[in-house]
Amino acid sequence: MDVLTDRVIQLTLELLAVPSVSGDCERVLKRVESELASCGLPCTRTHKGAVIAVWEGQDNQRQRVVTAHVDTLGAVVRYIRKNGRLRLYPIGGFDWRSFEGENCTVHTLDGQEYRGTLLPDKAARHAFPPEAHNEAHTLDNVEVRLDVLTDSRESTEALGIHPGDIVSFDPRSEVTDTGFIKSRFLDDKLGAALVLTAVKVLKEKGTALPNTTHFYFSNYEEIGHGTPAIPPAAAEIAAIDIGVVSEGCSSSEHAATILSRDGIMPYDRDGVRRLKALAEAENIPYRIDAYQNYGSDASTCVRSGKDIRALCFGPAAEATHNYERTHRDSVKASLQLLEAYLLSGTGVSQPR
Ligand SMILES: [Zn+2]
Repeated sequence: MDVLTDRVIQLTLELLAVPSVSGDCERVLKRVESELASCGLPCTRTHKGAVIAVWEGQDNQRQRVVTAHVDTLGAVVRYIRKNGRLRLYPIGGFDWRSFEGENCTVHTLDGQEYRGTLLPDKAARHAFPPEAHNEAHTLDNVEVRLDVLTDSRESTEALGIHPGDIVSFDPRSEVTDTGFIKSRFLDDKLGAALVLTAVKVLKEKGTALPNTTHFYFSNYEEIGHGTPAIPPAAAEIAAIDIGVVSEGCSSSEHAATILSRDGIMPYDRDGVRRLKALAEAENIPYRIDAYQNYGSDASTCVRSGKDIRALCFGPAAEATHNYERTHRDSVKASLQLLEAYLLSGTGVSQPR
């Protein structure tokens, strides 16, 4: 078994255990800060709370940003029903059916936490006619059943639960003895763990980086905010984010994915070529892929008007934004590609 891959998986599980719905990421951001501090990297916070650590490299003119996001899909309480249960409003893009039956936690503004489960209103198969079994589920017919004694709006309100409270879904993380890692939010806790592990490993080796590199842990990716606090000298941004394993895509749970295009833009051609060459030089299994319904913090950064080259690569998972799964092969390949990328320099001798 590969020790470095195990380190990434262990850190991924620890990050997954910390709820961090977009807009409510403070706990996991503090964890990221403590990981970076243990590597001796100074951190700053953006006004929106994202963590950025700078590692000074040999070339301070053409700086890089390497980003991963720590926020996940989730929901807020939309209103409390007469039966004391909760209607939700989603945060991020997902289908309700992918979260049905999942346990969740309601996080109130004053710091209390209540457990519950997301279920369709007509969940009891024995109680409703057959047509109810095929009903489409929308935000108007799924609810959170709270695991407390409440059967009215008033008694739920008395617990301190209010509209606007954040609801996080359990990640249901599992590592199988066949090498698979399953969880709801591999996207992008696995990406964050890869970046943190790569930094730690390179620091342990006493390596110097060719380019000054900003490690940017963003906290609003799932709702498309990008990375607004880009340093002026940054010439390139690489998002370490999830590849998509599905029919119609070429990514694999046994390789790293290099994105050539997403729903926003074609990624920098020279950068894609460099990543491909690095993977081939190091015998790293890789796939080049293009996705329609996809944006990363790198492509969002370009769309926001920044003059910067964008790249996106990382591990690939089955059933993204659903119950995701990848294999340790993809984790290993992605860590190798990330290390090679960090050590490779921009590869562009002159700014274009
Ligand atoms: Zn992502």
